[in-house]
Amino acid sequence: MNKSVMDFEDIERELRAFEDVERRKLGLAPEPPKHWRDLNPQTFTADERATTTILLGGLTLAHDTLVTGALAGLGYKLQPLDCPDGEALRLGKEFGNRGQCNPTYFTVGNLVKHLVHLRDVGGIPTPDIIRNYIFFTAGACGPCRFGTYVTEYRKALVDSGFAGFRVLLFQQQGGIKQATGEATGLALNTSFFKALIAAVMAGDCLNLAGYRIRPYEVHRGDTDAALLACRTLLTDTLRRRGNVLLALLRCRRLLNRIAVNRMRPKPKVSIIGEFWAMTTEGEGNHRLQRFLEAEGAEVDIQPVTAWILYNIWEHQHDTRKRLMLRGADEGMFGLRGKDGRRKLALLWVAERMVRAIFGAYTRAIGLNAYELPDMDEVATISHQYYDNHLRGGEGHMEVGKLMQTVEQRKAHMVISIKPFGCMPSSGVSDGVQSLITARYPEAIFTAIETTGDGEVNVQSRIQMDLFKAKKRAESEFRDAVQRTGLTEPALEAKARKKTKALAYPSHVVAGTAANQVLELAKITTL
Ligand code: SF4
Repeated sequence: MNKSVMDFEDIERELRAFEDVERRKLGLAPEPPKHWRDLNPQTFTADERATTTILLGGLTLAHDTLVTGALAGLGYKLQPLDCPDGEALRLGKEFGNRGQCNPTYFTVGNLVKHLVHLRDVGGIPTPDIIRNYIFFTAGACGPCRFGTYVTEYRKALVDSGFAGFRVLLFQQQGGIKQATGEATGLALNTSFFKALIAAVMAGDCLNLAGYRIRPYEVHRGDTDAALLACRTLLTDTLRRRGNVLLALLRCRRLLNRIAVNRMRPKPKVSIIGEFWAMTTEGEGNHRLQRFLEAEGAEVDIQPVTAWILYNIWEHQHDTRKRLMLRGADEGMFGLRGKDGRRKLALLWVAERMVRAIFGAYTRAIGLNAYELPDMDEVATISHQYYDNHLRGGEGHMEVGKLMQTVEQRKAHMVISIKPFGCMPSSGVSDGVQSLITARYPEAIFTAIETTGDGEVNVQSRIQMDLFKAKKRAESEFRDAVQRTGLTEPALEAKARKKTKALAYPSHVVAGTAANQVLELAKITTL
């Protein structure tokens, strides 16, 4: 074995020597190796703040708008990017490396698209764009391709003519203490995170309220008009650093004016999957949420706050495991020189605070009885199928969410949407989900991979399963009516007195109309 390695090295050496001799004969000097370096421009000083526009985007319209308002309240100039579309995907593919997952193409291309627009339509010279704009985004160390996003941004920026454009990173795993290196213009301190969390949670509240009301609105467009007014109100409040709870109470009044009819049985469809694919509202997921509503469904979304809880859970879980080691480890999140029990106590406080703030916000806006997932429960039920130590994307959460949805009758159908080739979601979760659906044959589960094209295929696959979910919602509604012993007209007359759009019936079964009927008859269990 060693002999053959030596032989190979001898051949390599001989070849190099031969090349060297031949080059000299031809008068060609040996070329020094050229290594690629990521220059990673990060300088953003405090005195540049007034003249620098921070571009951001990647969540929903509500989140991006509210984050813009919240950070403007701290003295930053911000501009949210449009929701990524097909043109963003095209530019992402043109300037990105091959083999990326499509959120990279969409989000990287979206930034390039905006800069090209500033240059070609806005008439701003490229050096001024590089000097006066920066992009702020989330990053992580992996383990999936998310760890390489920031490098992809820089590669695409260089290749599209914006070399030197700064991309600043907020480490998803970094918690509240993050060093920004030379980027002293961006102070990632307590005020920053408080503002960010307030905006994200308020955005979650608006989205959750919208998806509860819109499918049942009597006059088409009322919900979107009220949500626009709420977004404006909340953005102004965050910009003034005013009282978000009071603003949410005012939103509640605006939303409660919408006329609704919840006596129409509709299939409730829970959207899970890869974080970006299930969150975006544009061509990145073929406008999945709006498509489902147009097909007569009620959509159950995952709030971004649940993702924050998952991150806290990861730290808690890993810290508990580290405390069991014979010695403290020196890894990035290792406990060498740290007090593990204190870290656990701080994480416990962080989790309680997230739940308390979110609870206060949801109560203020009128999302009665909305509950964030219990992350320990999700981890426990899914662990036997998807090991909790596997990380990347949503980890074990997709599996746990599907199981909870079926066991607790939270929705009639579950769609798991993920980019084509997503390592944790299509590579692992979808494989595991076939076992889950075999164990829960009553589950209506549709796994969708997106590549940016094939929209009609995706929609037709969803329509087929949605038909089954519709039938299930209708039969569940009929059963609920029968259980009350009342006629449908009598129940409708009672329902007409329930005029508040946010008066969402308590959960007994999956369907909102069936729950409404049971609530009118004061039936709390089946
Ligand atoms: S979770 Fe999937 S789609 Fe998202 S970055 Fe990782 S590999 Fe890509």
